[in-house]
Amino acid sequence: MELWFTENHAPGARFSIKVEKQVYSQKSEYQQIDIFDSKEFGRFMTLDGYMMLTQRDEFIYHEMITHTAMAVNPKIQKVLVIGGGDGGAVRELTKYQSIQTIHLVEIDEMVIEASKKYMPFTSDKLNDPRVLIMICDGLRYVRSCKEAYDLIIVDSTDPFGPGEGLFTKEFYGNCEDILSPEGILINQHESPFYGEDALAMQRAHKRIYETFPISKCYQAHIPTYPSGHWLFGFASKKYDPINDFKEEEWTKFGLETKYYNRELHKGAFCLPNYVKELLNEVE
Ligand code: SAM
Repeated sequence: MELWFTENHAPGARFSIKVEKQVYSQKSEYQQIDIFDSKEFGRFMTLDGYMMLTQRDEFIYHEMITHTAMAVNPKIQKVLVIGGGDGGAVRELTKYQSIQTIHLVEIDEMVIEASKKYMPFTSDKLNDPRVLIMICDGLRYVRSCKEAYDLIIVDSTDPFGPGEGLFTKEFYGNCEDILSPEGILINQHESPFYGEDALAMQRAHKRIYETFPISKCYQAHIPTYPSGHWLFGFASKKYDPINDFKEEEWTKFGLETKYYNRELHKGAFCLPNYVKELLNEVE
């Protein structure tokens, strides 16, 4: 018998991966967590039936959610990651010796435990001495936070269930408050392609645009996310992602990346006309 994982990407479109075996399945207080093995995409994790990451293409998402900001402000030292319990964003951040502190605020301890046990390819740097893991709701954390961060990465699930609060105006306002004057906010910004995703993307963009003086979007091609066309948000009080791009300084870090590079940094901010229109509608 063949076993397939299938996710509805739109009312009339589905995406499937042939499963070799299921390696983990538990319901936490917040969500259903599943981990599968497949030939095509390697090991992959889903939450409530939605794809979070696959071994084959996670590098695209995790490189794009981290290095873009680091290349605009290579002096970033203190980072807050909200969500991201799989550890992929943390893994990329630990490549920078210059980063001193990484606070990971994840609501679901079971995601971290399952990732540590079954997905060492993303989680193997969660034990780095610079990483402090806090198990709590990111919305509540930023509400009462007294720290100042140079970079906040919102590596959340979609805007429903536990992730809903991480797409609100209150959340973005609190992030702005705890960012240093040179700080940058990066968020996973949903997809512009299918109707419901595009609406969620527009709602998030409107709120970030109203909160930060500089708010841009950039894109990446992620085969296992709905439509494969994914956006990230770049918001800052000071830095423009292109005019302030420190490509020479970033190159001096000497990092090996599989997706991100200097040309791609500039190209990623060049958006298709239909995406520009969606963004313009809410600006
Ligand atoms: N790359 C992924 C994607 O968009 O498909 C995101 C991956 S990461 C696993 C998302 C994490 O955000 C999950 O582990 C989830 O538990 C966490 N999360 C959701 N809502 C949260 C909240 N309010 N505060 C902190 N973490 C949250």
